[in-house]
This record gives sequence, C-alpha cells and structure tokens, in this order.
Amino acid sequence: MSIKYVYGFDLGGTFLKLRFYLVDGMKELFSKKVSLDEANKNCFIRAIAGFVEEIKKEFKVKKEEAIAGLGAPGIYAPRSGVVIDNAPNCPWVVGEPLAQDLSNELDLRVYHGNDAKLFALAEALMGAGKLYKVVAFLGLGTGVGGGIVKNGQLDLGAWGYAGELGHISFDVFNGRPCACGNKGCLEAYAGTDGICKTLETEISSLRAPSKEAKELAGCGDSRRIVKEVFTLARDDDQAAKNAVLSLGAHLGMGIQNILITHNPDIIVIGGSISNDLDMITDDIKHYLKNMDQKCLWENLVITKSHRSDDGGALGAALYALQKYEESVK
Ligand SMILES: [Zn+2]
Repeated sequence: MSIKYVYGFDLGGTFLKLRFYLVDGMKELFSKKVSLDEANKNCFIRAIAGFVEEIKKEFKVKKEEAIAGLGAPGIYAPRSGVVIDNAPNCPWVVGEPLAQDLSNELDLRVYHGNDAKLFALAEALMGAGKLYKVVAFLGLGTGVGGGIVKNGQLDLGAWGYAGELGHISFDVFNGRPCACGNKGCLEAYAGTDGICKTLETEISSLRAPSKEAKELAGCGDSRRIVKEVFTLARDDDQAAKNAVLSLGAHLGMGIQNILITHNPDIIVIGGSISNDLDMITDDIKHYLKNMDQKCLWENLVITKSHRSDDGGALGAALYALQKYEESVK
C-alpha cells in the first residue's frame, strides 16, 4: 500500500507546528501553529490528536493512507525509541517514547527524530542544499542545533548523537559552561545567551562603550539583543562590532571542525541570526582560509536556510517517508 498523505509535527518549547502534505510532490495541504497550554506530554498529545482529527474529517483520510513524522528537541535514540539527552529547553521529553505514545493515541505510524536534524534533512532534500551531496546544517537560536545529511540520508551515528554540531567544543576545561553540561561548546558562544554574554564582555573591555550598547546589553531581552546587536554593529558601534566579530570567529572555529569531520559541500545556517548572515560570512571564511586543506573551504558554500518557516515539520514528514520506505522494502 503506498502512502498518500504525510503529517509533519514540529515541537518547539511551548508550541507545535503542524503540517499536512500530499506525498505526490510534497504539496502542503494544511498548516497550523498551536501553543501548548502547558509544556507536558498530555497537552502535546491532545494538541496533535485534535489536529489529526480535523484533517481526517476535512480530507477524508483513510487509516492506511497516512503516516507521520515528529521532530522534537533532544537526542532521539532510534535503538531505544526515547529521547535520551540534551533537551534543556524542553526537559519533559527526555525518557518519553513519544512516537510510540502518539502512534497508540492516533492509530498511525509515527517516526521520531531530533528537530534540528530533521530540519537539516528538509534543507538537504527540498531547500538550500538540494543540489549538493553532503549538507551540514546549523540552526542558531536559544540552542545551536545541527545535522549532517549525506546523499539524502541523515547521519545519526550509533545512538543518534552524530551531527550535534552545537556541542563541538573548543575548550572542554576552561571554556564557557554550556547547557549540555560540557564546557566550551559552540552553543555557549553562538546561541542566544552566548551572544548576549559576548556583548557584555566586549562592553566591559572598552574604556568608553556607547550608551546604546550598554542599554541593549542590560535590557534583559535576549532575543532583542541578538536582533539589535547586528543593527548597532552596522552603525559602527565598537562593542557590537567586536561581539559580531567574535561570533564570526567562533562559527569559523565550529565550521572548521565540521569541515574536517564531514567535508560538506554546503553549510546551511538557519535560525534567528540567519538574516544577518552577511555580517559574519566574511569573518567565517577568513577564519577557514587559515586551514592548510584548501580543498575543504575553496568551493564551500555558506548560505542561509531556504526553509526557515516550515523546515522542522517538512523534515519530519520527509524522514517519516524515508523510514516507512525502509520498513516495507
Ligand atoms: Zn554543549
């Protein structure tokens, strides 16, 4: 029986993005974003069940015609069927067999993966990386997620950890503490809180930082800081320029590690700062050009995400289709 429809569920900290596709051409038929009343499994399952009921009625979907993919924070271990680690912004998912529980509730096959990795798959198959064989994705937000796709397949490693690019460490002994429990991770410098910390450090290192930079750093709104630090840097503010330069250098170091381990054709950067990628691309490339291995960076493409709005849910749907095809071979 061939599958006609596929659902894509993308779980954020307190919201869900829900999409429904016709498999033929991956045409999106319906999409919805809902806030969870509470961040827990019951609310999560209730929200998805409501969406699926709505869709089944509207499109007259038969049970055997549809499957679903779920992207959620944390390391999902296919071997054990649960999230095993690394979900500091959505801790309730750890240890939960979400795909199994959803499957039981919805009477539907559900395939689960890490949200950033599934985003990487969407970019590789239907986004910025679709013309390339080896695609690396970095999603910069509160956390720094990542994923590696080789020849259209996600690289998950033995336990689902492969591609956790935000936790490449530059200094495990003396680096900044990271939410994952280690030190010196890329996320601790390129995640939202990391960028805020860097701005504070740059302000304190200047004899006469601007009042605009001080006001921004002290506003307590990390999302505003990350958005406006680039505006200030474009206006030639020294502390903001230094903070942006530091971000470029840390991303350069992170990407250098990605090049050595995966030799990608393209690095796709998504998340909140991708609209300001032009401010840091030169710094990243400048850093990479210090590498002796010219073949790694000479033709490397660094670009922003093409699926910023739907990448998570689309990737979940595409992953579900891949896994389903494998299971019926
Ligand atoms: Zn980390």
